[in-house]
Amino acid sequence: MPSARGVLGLLSGLLFLATVASGQTPVDSSLWSYINNIRAIDSHAHPMRPVAAGAPADTEYDALPLDAIPPFAFPARLAGTDPIWRAAQAALYAVPAAANDSLYKEGVKSAATRAIRERGLRFPEWALDQAGIDVMLANRIAMGPGLAAPRFRWVTFVDALMLPLDTRREAARSPDTRSLYWKEAALLHRYMRELGVAKLPPTLDAYIASIVTPMLERQHEGGAVAVKFEAAYLRPLDFADPNPAEARRVYARYFGGGTPSGAEYKSLEDYLFRVIAREAGRLDESVQIHTLEDFGGFYQASGATPFQLEPTFNDSTLRKTNFIIVHGGWPFYAQTEAMLGKPNVYADISMMDILLPPTQLAPVLRQWLTQWPDKVLFGTDSFDGGAEQGWEQVAWVGATTARRGLAMALTGMLRDGEVTRERAKELARMVLRENAVKAYRRLP
Ligand SMILES: [Zn+2]
Repeated sequence: MPSARGVLGLLSGLLFLATVASGQTPVDSSLWSYINNIRAIDSHAHPMRPVAAGAPADTEYDALPLDAIPPFAFPARLAGTDPIWRAAQAALYAVPAAANDSLYKEGVKSAATRAIRERGLRFPEWALDQAGIDVMLANRIAMGPGLAAPRFRWVTFVDALMLPLDTRREAARSPDTRSLYWKEAALLHRYMRELGVAKLPPTLDAYIASIVTPMLERQHEGGAVAVKFEAAYLRPLDFADPNPAEARRVYARYFGGGTPSGAEYKSLEDYLFRVIAREAGRLDESVQIHTLEDFGGFYQASGATPFQLEPTFNDSTLRKTNFIIVHGGWPFYAQTEAMLGKPNVYADISMMDILLPPTQLAPVLRQWLTQWPDKVLFGTDSFDGGAEQGWEQVAWVGATTARRGLAMALTGMLRDGEVTRERAKELARMVLRENAVKAYRRLP
């Protein structure tokens, strides 16, 4: 039996431990510095070509730029008023405080413009260095000067290949889809021009043989590592088991004109979606699918959940194709987790690390990493928000948030005895870099 003095000593010792525990930083400092030194692979982003003053703007950063749809609200952390943007501006441009907000914004704008002018074609690489990103997968219609391999790798847009017929009836679905379908029609025409094909052939098999496959092969030769579907902006992601005979009939009936019904078009899209995904796999390219609650005032969030993709993921003929649930299916991350058990399905945290602070990203990462540690990829979805919120700022915010959230998740796992320190470091490397090399077979 311990003496009174011993009990007191024990109590004060426990008290000391409790104080230390409550004063613990949320992040283990040596893990934090380890994570900050990992050169990351960004699974999904929209970097811009550096454009000289007076030159035409870069319009090839997205197949479905959302500036054409009716104005809509952004989630709060995305708005430039969140303090994280000031942190990005301080880190990248050391923008000084100003007497008022509009003067400060002017300061940001001129610092960013000056950086692009001074660095020229080296600006994009500089932006990656600031965010600790080694390789950025660039989701763009076309690459171009300043966005070269090995730092930038191409991800192409393929929804247009799924939509060869008149989409007027589809486009009428909502005020958002009205302008978006038109963009896809224009992109298909561009693809056909690039292939030297003047008009649609009369059968679906000929369309696939003369346009779909040659376009995917052309993009492959251009260095593409993946294809991207933005279909969630256009329709629900419920790509059903296709009926090839019906798809052929629909194509043959309408290739020369006329507007298919919704059901007819869906059967054609469902078929072509699988063809494109299968062809991508044959070419060692992965398939990215936008799966997120946003964006747009008429966006159909319920059609964009990970569960909608289960028939696709369960298609045994597509198991040679790797799929990436882009944006982690946020906020339906439990559904995402349920899909990660499929051998060819991965998820990236692009845009999640823009929308969420590290404290909210951390529990999601911890949950996923506990079950499927080799399936989680870093990404930013870096995009151009104008001169005051350029893509380089978004990349910095995404990378900084992701690293902090990852450090919090791994610190928790370490302190709760779920992983060793070595394993925590390994998990950090996997999320920030190594898992991407498995998910995208054409990397590094
Ligand atoms: Zn994106």
